[in-house]
Amino acid sequence: MAPEEFRQAGHELVNQIADFLAGLEQKPVTTGEQPPAVRAALGNNSLPAEGSAASGILAEAAQLLFHHSLFNGHPRFWGYITSSATPIGALGDLLAAAVNPNVAAFALSPVATEIEQQTIRWIAEFINYPVSCGGLFVSGGNMANFVGFLAARKAKAAWDIRKDGLQSRNSRLLVYCSRNTHTWIQKAADLFGLGTDAIRWIEPNEEQQLDLSLLEQQIADDRAAGFTPFLVVGSAGTVGTGTVDSLSGIAGICRKNNLWFHVDGAYGAPAAGLPECAALFEGLAEVDSVALDPHKWFYSPLEAGCALVRDPKLLQEAFSFHPDYYNFDGTGDEPPVNYYDYGMQNSRGFRALKVWLGFKQAGRNGYIQMIRDDISLSQKLFSLIQATPELEAVSQNLSITTFRYVPQGMANHPDENYLNKLNEALLNHLQVAGEVFVSNAVISGKYCLRACIVNFRTQWQDLEALVAIAIREGRRLDAQLRQDSTNS
Ligand SMILES: *Cc1c(COP(=O)(O)O)cnc(C)c1O
Repeated sequence: MAPEEFRQAGHELVNQIADFLAGLEQKPVTTGEQPPAVRAALGNNSLPAEGSAASGILAEAAQLLFHHSLFNGHPRFWGYITSSATPIGALGDLLAAAVNPNVAAFALSPVATEIEQQTIRWIAEFINYPVSCGGLFVSGGNMANFVGFLAARKAKAAWDIRKDGLQSRNSRLLVYCSRNTHTWIQKAADLFGLGTDAIRWIEPNEEQQLDLSLLEQQIADDRAAGFTPFLVVGSAGTVGTGTVDSLSGIAGICRKNNLWFHVDGAYGAPAAGLPECAALFEGLAEVDSVALDPHKWFYSPLEAGCALVRDPKLLQEAFSFHPDYYNFDGTGDEPPVNYYDYGMQNSRGFRALKVWLGFKQAGRNGYIQMIRDDISLSQKLFSLIQATPELEAVSQNLSITTFRYVPQGMANHPDENYLNKLNEALLNHLQVAGEVFVSNAVISGKYCLRACIVNFRTQWQDLEALVAIAIREGRRLDAQLRQDSTNS
């Protein structure tokens, strides 16, 4: 592509993106189209034999994306834990791709490597974790948690596990976590050879936190039975309800038992940067490793996960190999950081840039304010639901509110099976209708709607609309379900 063609195609594309972002709130959150309809929109199925001019195909791609996407940047999107992305992050990704540093080694990415290190320090500083930690960017929370898991496995196995493997010892390594832990732990136990039976699922207490006395008891029982406990995973913001485990309580148990303490803060850890949340996250600074997702509460475009390990040496020891075809040790006085030494990837993109730009643009205080706004909107939503007949407010933590629709007259003698069926039907409708987007959580057997606000575009009126729509559609589906059961 000639420089002038790039310039023109790029300007056209940026204009289209600017219009798209400006008109986002007028669009439906999703089209709700099924796979055949989306496939049909792609049109011609065959691999093009000949090429086409850039500006035409970019315009075609933009139209496809603007008309057949779910928009998680929409002010009424609160599903799962997927945030609105900062526009500056999109420009950052364009710049990163244009220069295309390979952040595997300093020699291949001098300034990108330094920006990544600086951004990692800023994240640690933001959440009040020691800035002397090691860390790196990965694709997301799953991968960031895997980094912590592998660092723990290497550090706590009493033998050379990277060389001898798991088979060389017949005492099984065990990991402890609450039932509310995200499913990454199952993938980790499977992929890294422990097997999912190596997970000791601890029942949560009444506050849905990891139960400390059950944890201690289970560790003691397992030790007595000849197993090798090595890792406890705590959650700083569970994926279902946003609950933060007692981090200082777990840290104490880990210290006493010489276990690694890893915190999954993929969603919630950034809230540790808010002065009013300091007590909730007490103990975070002591933990051995933390996973968090800049593509959640730091609003970076996908993908950006981040792993922090308190002792940088232990991070490197878990991943480093030095083949003789790598000449990356440098010739100066200070050895360079080569990120291939710190994680699972070899060639690596420049994920740090979009995160770094976000921090530079909003500053610490800007992020504190955006996170604070999400939490206070969520609390206000919970109060509104509590005060609304036909809706039952179920839980509120960080920026996650769960609730369900309960038809008039059923609140005092609920038919739980019916309510679960009704709320599941309600969720399925809301997720395709395009007015709002929420996801679900099952809490103590109750099927709930779940609004997770990691969205700087959401205004209070959007949440008032959610309440009105949930009641309107709840009534309609209730009438329809009753009609169906009369007919059958
Ligand atoms: C989102 C999330 C994950 C998974 O993160 P990905 O970025 O989707 O890989 C893990 N744990 C928690 C608590 C999460 O919220």
